[in-house]
Amino acid sequence: MPKLVEEIAQRRTFAIISHPDAGKTTLTEKLLLFGGAIQLAGTIKGRKAARHATSDWMELEKQRGISVTSSVMQFAYQNVTINLLDTPGHEDFSEDTYRTLTAVDSALMVIDSAKGVEEQTIKLLEVCRLRHTPILTFINKLDRDGREPIDLLDEIEKVLQIHCAPITWPIGRGKFFKGIYHLLDQSVTLFEPSKNHIATAGRHYTQLDDPELLNQLGAAQLDELKTELELVLGASNPFKVEKFLAGELTPVFFGSALNNFGVKALLDDFVTYAPPPQPRPTTTRMVAPNEDKFSGFVFKIQANMDPAHRDRIAFLRVCSGQYQKGMKVRHVRLNREVQIANALTFMAGEREHTEEAWPGDIIGLHNHGTIQIGDTFTQGEDLKFTGIPHFAPEIFRRARLREPLRMKALLKGLVQLSEEGATQLFRPLSNNDLILGAVGTLQFDVVSWRLQNEYSVECHFETVQVATARWISCNNEKKLEEFKRKAFNNLALDGAENLTYIAPTKINLSLMQERWPEIQFFATREN
Ligand code: GDP
Repeated sequence: MPKLVEEIAQRRTFAIISHPDAGKTTLTEKLLLFGGAIQLAGTIKGRKAARHATSDWMELEKQRGISVTSSVMQFAYQNVTINLLDTPGHEDFSEDTYRTLTAVDSALMVIDSAKGVEEQTIKLLEVCRLRHTPILTFINKLDRDGREPIDLLDEIEKVLQIHCAPITWPIGRGKFFKGIYHLLDQSVTLFEPSKNHIATAGRHYTQLDDPELLNQLGAAQLDELKTELELVLGASNPFKVEKFLAGELTPVFFGSALNNFGVKALLDDFVTYAPPPQPRPTTTRMVAPNEDKFSGFVFKIQANMDPAHRDRIAFLRVCSGQYQKGMKVRHVRLNREVQIANALTFMAGEREHTEEAWPGDIIGLHNHGTIQIGDTFTQGEDLKFTGIPHFAPEIFRRARLREPLRMKALLKGLVQLSEEGATQLFRPLSNNDLILGAVGTLQFDVVSWRLQNEYSVECHFETVQVATARWISCNNEKKLEEFKRKAFNNLALDGAENLTYIAPTKINLSLMQERWPEIQFFATREN
């Protein structure tokens, strides 16, 4: 088999989607443990604390109790290279999450067994559904008294409109949670609580009537399990790979991430069934991963990831071909040839220089302000990957400096932080205001905190009479010029120098749209 085809077949790129607190971090840690990327559970938390010494950014995370730094982790399991893309859980960061989900081939949905389907999960699943992303489900915290598993499946089907096919079934719950039954290979795995924190498979039985199993569970629990299984098998959907790959059916796994229960079964089946890197759409054609020529797109930019380096990293998903250290590629939007000498990979949070990367992999490019979210890189062809939008922000504030002399630093900070895509900067044509737009108010706190810590700029945000923004386009040059003259006071340039109409009120926007039928007002833009 050619090397490219082989590498593609053994790659899985996915993200975990969940409502905050469902157990995403805990599960990530256990997956890394099985992947041998970390030796002992607790390391992630430990690293968080250690990194905190060098990055006050984590402090904000701690104070707010949210996870805002989104990262990429690569680890190997069996013969498979797994790329796990972290998505921030807080709703104010949904745009970032939205774009991250364009870079995955499948998603793992984590649900708290006591809480069931929560709000954030619903939103994230909607995004996945737009692209028919295959979803696996892990129902977590079975060691706690939660809801009945059958009710949870019911809720997922009703609320999320996706069929459920249970793959594992919990044996007991809460205090009596003993292990899982695997419906496909009809085996039982019992867990050994004392070995929670190491990558242990648990005790395995291939027959329900194994006398040792009876011994372990007792007749009552074993009977209960058998009755339940009959009910489940009768009432639930069988697992069909095609339906899973089409995003119509989700295989469901039960367990406890904290206790490392049921995680191995999940990971084994994930590796077996989750799709390898898939073809991706561009404005002109689909790009297949096994095409010889390299291509990829940037779905995320993060500034100051490592305060010691003060750099900005653009995260690129490789879509086809191979990345090789030092290769020359075309930055399509700028029509410029660039050499990528020192791309990074991210292994369990550590960054390393990489020699090669394959479809499905995420590489980090050093960005000196030329790369934007949504940019495509190719080996020559004029391609543009689609589905990486910017949304019109809904909340606007004017940046106000405390020390007027720090204006240059403020501008630099706002431009760089806006490159990350969570906030957008607008500079009115008619004055020197710096107006920041975001989808959630938390963003303004984050930005002013980061400006202070990363750029030594003290700034606060004040309200400004802007209700919404629309990107402007018009085929008729003359009309556009006329519009620019008439609407001058409400026009601005965004961070990428695109012409934007910043409407003082929603009513004003509708009036303008009526008055200027030749002008197009876009609520999203893809570059
Ligand atoms: P995230 O916000 O989704 O990343 O959630 P975390 O992984 O940080 O978990 C939230 C809380 O739930 C933490 O206190 C975890 O220790 C706890 N937790 C996670 N998994 C389990 C589990 O399987 N059982 C129990 N009882 N608690 C869990």
